Amino acid sequence: MSNNCLFCRIAAGEIPADTLYNDDDVMAFWDICPQAPKHFLVIPKQHISGPSALTEADENIIGKVLRIGAELAKTNGAEHFRFVVNNGEEAGQTVFHFHLHVLGGRKMTWPPG
Ligand code: 5GP
Ligand code: ZN
Repeated sequence: MSNNCLFCRIAAGEIPADTLYNDDDVMAFWDICPQAPKHFLVIPKQHISGPSALTEADENIIGKVLRIGAELAKTNGAEHFRFVVNNGEEAGQTVFHFHLHVLGGRKMTWPPG
């Protein structure tokens, strides 16, 4: 747990979030600034700064993050959805704790911005 990491603090319950899912190692909560009618984030509770920091030891937890994201999309009315993971400032990453964006509830366009 990193005290100066926003998502570590949300995972620890120190900062409130509108939570959809919570277990020992994964948490999902609605994005504070939604970019689609359905927009939530799924995070590993352990601090991983982003995709570039992943190691082989993280493969199970990231697989779980994806599975939970897909299950929650379905149970929250977003049968069709988009997964986004930003890595690095130029890619749009603003919080340096791995998070899966799950966006749905509207037609998505391609290419992404
Ligand atoms: P990034 O830009 O790093 O890929 O995504 C960070 C996301 O976290 C953004 O979509 C932003 O709206 C969301 N976010 C930032 N601060 C908070 C917060 O305090 N609570 C919640 N629920 N979402 C947040
Ligand atoms: Zn963190």
